Amino acid sequence: MQITFWGVRGSYPVPGAATVRYGGQTSCVEARTASGETLIVDAGTGLRQLGNKLARESGGAPGQHHVLLSHVHWDHIQGLPFFSPAYIPGTRISVYALLTAADELNQVIGGITRHEFFPMPLEAVPANFDFHQVEPGVAFVIGQFHIMPIALNHPFGSVGYRIDADGSSWAYVSDTAPFDKVLHKQHFLKGPEPLSADDVTALTAMREALVVRLKGVDTVVYDTHFLPEEYERFPHYGHSTPDQAIQICVEAGVRRLVLYHHAPSHGDDQMDKIAADYLAKGAAVGVEVLTSFEGMTLPVGPEGTK
Ligand SMILES: [Zn+2]
Ligand SMILES: [Zn+2]
Repeated sequence: MQITFWGVRGSYPVPGAATVRYGGQTSCVEARTASGETLIVDAGTGLRQLGNKLARESGGAPGQHHVLLSHVHWDHIQGLPFFSPAYIPGTRISVYALLTAADELNQVIGGITRHEFFPMPLEAVPANFDFHQVEPGVAFVIGQFHIMPIALNHPFGSVGYRIDADGSSWAYVSDTAPFDKVLHKQHFLKGPEPLSADDVTALTAMREALVVRLKGVDTVVYDTHFLPEEYERFPHYGHSTPDQAIQICVEAGVRRLVLYHHAPSHGDDQMDKIAADYLAKGAAVGVEVLTSFEGMTLPVGPEGTK
């Protein structure tokens, strides 16, 4: 299996001279098996270019596409209305996400194409959409891909995915806060709230479950939006640092970490410094730390290589 990064930014797109090398599109990763089966993870603005490639590959013929969503914040869904295969009649698009009910997901995706926001409503789009609810800890299979959703710590919830195919394995862990200062629940946090004993238990359990799911995974793509000093100021925003991601990888025995969901304020020069600093920090503890950029393709190694 190989993975390709079509959007590596968090929060909002940042095109412009300062983001030419790492890219300005928001979250979207493509997984592809040796036989050419594809799976899309998150549908930020990076999805638009991926859609164009998939439509070219099919020669405009209808196909079936599967999109796993970590959650439905803008930076993870905004590419969907601009996914060109959706405009090929006969195409089927299956969307998977963590929500209380699949029909609620229908309303969310339908909502962003309401006439106030977009010229064509979801029901008029030529492709057929279907929506599926995922549940942390409940595995499912899409073609050659074996998928395990993992609960993450993010405002109103988010899920990571462990994805196994071709005897290789990677995981997508975005968006998530660390598991120390804040437990995100189903309400808005103005700032960090004091943790109860139950909150601490819940955070510990969530972190342990994540580490268990990542064991044997070759490559982990992780939300490393913040530098440590930024996290200290905004611990309730729901994002991690590279240091926390490295620590999780060390505990899970993962040999390769990919920094992802870069802060929009981190321009290319700062990203170069982050990449160099964390390559060295990771090497010191046996984790190869790569920094994702738009267009990067990585072969994923076999399961349990460490
Ligand atoms: Zn995000
Ligand atoms: Zn988010």
